[in-house]
Amino acid sequence: MKTAEIKRRFLEHFEKLGHTVVPSAPLPFDDPNLLFINAGMVQFVPYLSGQQTPPWERAVSVQKCIRTLDIEEVGKTSRHVTFFQMNGNFSFGDYFKAGAIEYAWSLLTGPIEDGGLGLDPNRLWATTFENDDPNLPNDDEATELWRRYLPAERIQRRGIDDNFWSMSIAGPCGPCSEIFYDRGPQYGVDGGPIVDEDRFVEIWNLVFMQFDGDRGHKEPGFQVLGELPNKNIDTGMGLERVASILQGVDNLYEIDEVFPVIERAAELSRRTYGWHHEDNVRFRIVADHVRSALMLMGDGVTPGNEGRGYVLRRLIRRAVRSMRLLGVDGPTMPELLPVSMNSMKGAYPELEADFARISKIAYAEEDAFAQTLVKGTEILDIAVSNAKQAGHTRLGGDEAFQLHDTYGFPIDLTLEMASEQGLSVDEDGFRTLMAEQRRRAKADAAAKKGQHADTTVYRGALERFGETEWLAYDQLRTESQ
Ligand code: ATP
Ligand code: MG
Ligand code: MG
Ligand code: MG
Repeated sequence: MKTAEIKRRFLEHFEKLGHTVVPSAPLPFDDPNLLFINAGMVQFVPYLSGQQTPPWERAVSVQKCIRTLDIEEVGKTSRHVTFFQMNGNFSFGDYFKAGAIEYAWSLLTGPIEDGGLGLDPNRLWATTFENDDPNLPNDDEATELWRRYLPAERIQRRGIDDNFWSMSIAGPCGPCSEIFYDRGPQYGVDGGPIVDEDRFVEIWNLVFMQFDGDRGHKEPGFQVLGELPNKNIDTGMGLERVASILQGVDNLYEIDEVFPVIERAAELSRRTYGWHHEDNVRFRIVADHVRSALMLMGDGVTPGNEGRGYVLRRLIRRAVRSMRLLGVDGPTMPELLPVSMNSMKGAYPELEADFARISKIAYAEEDAFAQTLVKGTEILDIAVSNAKQAGHTRLGGDEAFQLHDTYGFPIDLTLEMASEQGLSVDEDGFRTLMAEQRRRAKADAAAKKGQHADTTVYRGALERFGETEWLAYDQLRTESQ
């Protein structure tokens, strides 16, 4: 089943159940903590937090999401992409756990001919919340509800780290229940999601906003003050994950909306996809990053050295560089971007209408990077051979800084290329130099600009999903999720 068809069925299922279809919000998000929307609930935070009265009791959306936190996973796990679409249904004080579970189940297992997704019920598992803390009740209610659909051995209990949610501040919080699909023994060991999350893939997260908390649930001393008068439902189903299952492919890079880029990259490189592990990872990075870059540019992001622009720049550069490693030296964006656009334009026709502008940005960025790459590589090669002659096993932070500062060579590239030569890089030293430079720049900027608006309300999204911002200068490789 095509991705577009799954999306259509999702929307129709919930529309029939009285949900209003709300369009995806654009990817860029106006908040200093969150550069991009990373979940369906983000655009509904004012309603979920009780700050504003929602115009509907039930809503459904397919939200464009970017999670750069998952960038290091791309190509390596089967289930993480940096751009994905989150299908979500929302109840604002209307139905609660029984409805959320029933509606999810009936869509997932409903017969294809009746508008369902036709998944085999015997392959589905669920997790529910369980905890030692007497202040936080176990979610026996959700477990009981799941027993209507699943045998006890396919319902697993998980603690506060995995199955509880709050906004990181006082206010709505509650347990979650995640739905997993068993891909079968060829993908790993038995025992359910708490044993193996590669074989048992999380496809849908149901959040039950049930309690009023006195602070974020990860803060020491967190207490539940009582039940909320208006309980909310927030869910997120990974469209690409479900597509990979229904299309019978191994991973998210091989679904209809992503794979054509891999095919084109394989033609260009004259290498075969599927043969060689390292090449496979590169092909997947290319396909993922080209698509994410396309979607970002479609939503008005342009390459730059900070914030959103840097995320876009990094995605394009990583895609180009991965093509280089696949043996393709010429311009690659003019070959790959139109292929990605063709795969995505069904769902987002505006990409085609705006393609002249988008492609111009992408091609210029690749050209600039190609020059950076030539100059930077020369300098790096000299630094590497000097280090090796001196018997060092790592490059100095000042060298990495100079490469960055003078030649525009991104640190992740320095790290990647140094490690190909068997050298590490003094990242701490580099970070210190960058921090100094950044402090100076910030001080200048602060003098010019005013203060940020109060955005504590969005911390919930941050808390739930971690930071999506790629803090290129401060947090290299410290991303944890
Ligand atoms: P995982 O544990 O697999 O990283 P998650 O718990 O971080 O997933 P949620 O924050 O619960 O994911 O997001 C809701 C749904 O969105 C998930 O159930 C999954 O189907 C999908 N999803 C999350 N992250 C990604 C990603 N990087 N690529 C594709 N789909 C994703
Ligand atoms: Mg998870
Ligand atoms: Mg989850
Ligand atoms: Mg995750």
